[in-house]
Amino acid sequence: MAIGDAAYIKSINRRLIISKIIEAGMISRADLSKITKLTRATISVQVADLLEEELIVESHQEHSSVGRKPIMLSINRNAGYALGVDLDHKHVTFTLSDLGGNPVSTDILELKNSNYDEILNLLIAQIKQYNDQYSDSRFGIVGVVIGIHGTVSKDEIINFIPQHKWKDKNLKADLEKELDMQVYIENNANLCSFAERVFKHHHSENLVSISMYSGIGLGVLINGELLKGYHGYAGEMGHMIIVPDGRPCNCGNSGCWELYASEASILNQLKELHANQHLTYQDAHKLIMNQDQQTCDVLDSFIKYVAIGLNNIINLLNPETIVLNSELLKIYPNVINKIESNLTSSISDYHKILISDLGKHAAVMGACALAIKSFLNVPDIRLTIEDHE
Ligand SMILES: [Zn+2]
Repeated sequence: MAIGDAAYIKSINRRLIISKIIEAGMISRADLSKITKLTRATISVQVADLLEEELIVESHQEHSSVGRKPIMLSINRNAGYALGVDLDHKHVTFTLSDLGGNPVSTDILELKNSNYDEILNLLIAQIKQYNDQYSDSRFGIVGVVIGIHGTVSKDEIINFIPQHKWKDKNLKADLEKELDMQVYIENNANLCSFAERVFKHHHSENLVSISMYSGIGLGVLINGELLKGYHGYAGEMGHMIIVPDGRPCNCGNSGCWELYASEASILNQLKELHANQHLTYQDAHKLIMNQDQQTCDVLDSFIKYVAIGLNNIINLLNPETIVLNSELLKIYPNVINKIESNLTSSISDYHKILISDLGKHAAVMGACALAIKSFLNVPDIRLTIEDHE
């Protein structure tokens, strides 16, 4: 065997071992050998390297049955931190997680306007502050992933953010120029679907996550891989036309799905209906609980339009898991049954529809997970954390 081949195989084995340690949480050398089908000797050498690098740690299992307690291996969670950023319209959310994906802090900064340079400087200042704060840890901040509410090309250039009116911005290069760390840019709906798979639905290879807040964004995993399309803009299903000659959309068409099934559109209807421009989710919840007829009519029509879009997505993709990310659907009783009662086609096939547990944290959690995956250079990552509510 050539030396190059040996080094290559060693790096493949290393990645496999790291991903299995992370997935298991805690695992013995013997079980690692069983799961990876690598010899005990190979495991032993690789584990020694990882221990020396302080990427993993050893511990003794506490509740072992009779006999010798095996030494367990786990990722050294506090050896480094991932930074996930959700760059939204009116605010930016920064979440730091340890290397196990557990969030350790979250900061939300308000945006006063959409000026690119101002927001760039705000990002640089905040990221530098985290970098200083965590510089004592073994690896510091291991990577920054920024979620964008707009289209992002395959080479991580921001194509368009409608709410900020930004076109063709190379935020990655602008940040990396000022920061001595790896920065990644990704569409936030893609990050949501990645988070659902990494943290919640470990075995779902075909998963669709639908974020239904100001617009509708779709993140699609097909056979475990994010669906990107030609330039990287796949998933703009908020702009599929579901009503011919319907309401005009700022994309240039009319009758787009998000005009009928995004939370913003429904909240606007409720605000108008109840002559309350400050109507909140809590207000909507109260109205639903009191069975206010007009509110229930608006929500029934919301659910009808949600189901029309879902019908089209299901028939296009045949997904296993469909995750709806919406606070409004979450507070509506028996909502999944109501949606499914509108999905009557004998052709539509999927396994399950559910409401996201991660909710509005999904994008930043996915961003942290993606930073960890890139840092560890593993092909796949599955993390288990305590419920994030
Ligand atoms: Zn549109």
